[in-house]
Amino acid sequence: MKIVFATGNEHKIQELKAIAKSLGSFDTEFVFPPKDFMPDENGSTFEENSYIKAKEANRLTGMYSLADDSGLCVKALDDEPGIHSARYADTPKNRIEKLLNALKNTKDRSAKFVCAMTLLNEKGEIIFQTRGECQGQIAFEPCGTNGFGYDPIFLVENTGLTMAQMSENDKNMISHRGRALKKVLDFLKK
Ligand code: IMP
Repeated sequence: MKIVFATGNEHKIQELKAIAKSLGSFDTEFVFPPKDFMPDENGSTFEENSYIKAKEANRLTGMYSLADDSGLCVKALDDEPGIHSARYADTPKNRIEKLLNALKNTKDRSAKFVCAMTLLNEKGEIIFQTRGECQGQIAFEPCGTNGFGYDPIFLVENTGLTMAQMSENDKNMISHRGRALKKVLDFLKK
């Protein structure tokens, strides 16, 4: 089965392919949307934004489309940056710096990564929507070089490691995207 994965982020699609492979799902092939894929992500929830992206990919291709919308929710910041995670500051380094500064005098560093996924059929109708979460803490300084985005400052619950210190495979087993995708693939198998 061919599904267009509604993202312009090369890293995400590689991650998705690796997760699908590790879950033993070889019969689902994820492909990129066309170059003119430019959704207007103006929703107010992860679910709404994932729907907007999937809908745009479906409009351009007429194919089954899957989209995710993800972000980092920090408890002491009322769940910010949340849906604004990608735009919290202008570069990945500055986003991390801004977040560490915002938490400078904060004891409670609890946070979670959230990923909503929406799957549409060829007609553009929602056939499945789900969410995966990964609980953790914001570290005091960046650590590790793997992954992307906020990985170097996200300490995964019960591991003592940041996501950037984990191997790609280990991250995929416990990540918000891994958990959401597992539910999507289970749905597709049924
Ligand atoms: P999206 O592409 O609109 O879903 O933006 C999600 C943003 O949240 C990314 O640009 C990252 O900054 C952050 N993010 C989402 N998932 C991860 C992850 O697995 N690791 C690190 N940062 C992430």
